Amino acid sequence: MKYVVVLGDGMADEPLEQLGGMTPLEYAKTPEMDRLAAVSEIGLAKTIPDGMKPGSDTANLAVLGYNPKQYYTGRSPLEALSIGVDMKPTDVALRCNIVTVSEEEGIPYDERTIIDHSSGEISTQEAAVLIEAVKPVFENEIYQFYVGTSYRHLLIWNHGSVVELTPPHDILGKKIGNYLPADKVLREMQRKSFDILNQHPINLERAKKGLNKANSLWFWGAGTRPQLDSFEKKTGKRGTMISAVDLLKGIAVGAEMNVVEVEGANGSLHTNYEGKAMAAVRDLTENGYDFAYVHVEAPDEMGHQGSMERKIQAIEYLDQRVIKLVVKELENKNVDFRMLIMPDHPTPICCRTHTSDPVPYLLYDSTKKITGRPYNEKEAKKSGIFVEEGFRLVEKLLEL
Ligand SMILES: [Zn+2]
Repeated sequence: MKYVVVLGDGMADEPLEQLGGMTPLEYAKTPEMDRLAAVSEIGLAKTIPDGMKPGSDTANLAVLGYNPKQYYTGRSPLEALSIGVDMKPTDVALRCNIVTVSEEEGIPYDERTIIDHSSGEISTQEAAVLIEAVKPVFENEIYQFYVGTSYRHLLIWNHGSVVELTPPHDILGKKIGNYLPADKVLREMQRKSFDILNQHPINLERAKKGLNKANSLWFWGAGTRPQLDSFEKKTGKRGTMISAVDLLKGIAVGAEMNVVEVEGANGSLHTNYEGKAMAAVRDLTENGYDFAYVHVEAPDEMGHQGSMERKIQAIEYLDQRVIKLVVKELENKNVDFRMLIMPDHPTPICCRTHTSDPVPYLLYDSTKKITGRPYNEKEAKKSGIFVEEGFRLVEKLLEL
């Protein structure tokens, strides 16, 4: 038996008036999920434990079977693992976004508005040049920068503290003054970064093309070095991770899973869906892995952007270009498999940020067809099946 998780990040949502009271998942044309749902277990799982923030870090740890209450030490340290940064026990890792803030003339940094937490999903190549531009000004024996992917980078703070910081995607459209780091050094770095970056040739070029400037650093997600148990030791299954996102790759590194680099997989709406699907199939059928985790970031990003049409598009791509392909390939190779389809958390269009509501899941078994029901938020709720401890859902998938 092979096992697959297809994780549509932020896919769950709320009923929308514009969709006649349907959610994007309900509205989207998803013939493959519909077909599987009709013979699968549909249920609801609580991936965010009470009292924890609905981050992708917390939620994906839970889906992979790690109780966030026990294992979560912050988001950024997991990304540090993915970049290959070996954190010392005294290090604190911070996520360093490159964001877009407004650039009205003659106003102080604190009065500016945050426009885009992703600088128009800037390329890693461009972002790397910008990180190199701030390094000589800010780096010393206490603070070191590392380039990650797209707008997501890393600051290691030697002997730092795990300070409370605001995720930039939670305050889009707001004045930043009230949300800057309380820590003086971090705050000053953010302020100064605008002076360095706003007129950088890369940003002048981006402005010319009508793209959002990557004109400020933004620190958040502080944490210390995580200590995950090996996925294989825990479950007896050899696992492989297919994701464009450093956070997921970092979790996989921490869990001693294989990490696949898929060309053109970039976390955006136009990622290499087929490449990810085929990487999972290859690892399961040719490379000796038992368990594949295929993570697709696009629905979450579209949720943050508040774009209903593109979120629906992302879900339809997930259906046709990932799920359908994996199922077809495994069926063609006569491989028995169980597949879990779910989001990590909702990222509702209405609020453009993550929420803590339990998420709908679809659990399919190619050898055991049961009477299912449509796969969406409402039907999952109606099913009466509720996995209160979301980190135990993987045991259900793996039949442990
Ligand atoms: Zn997420």
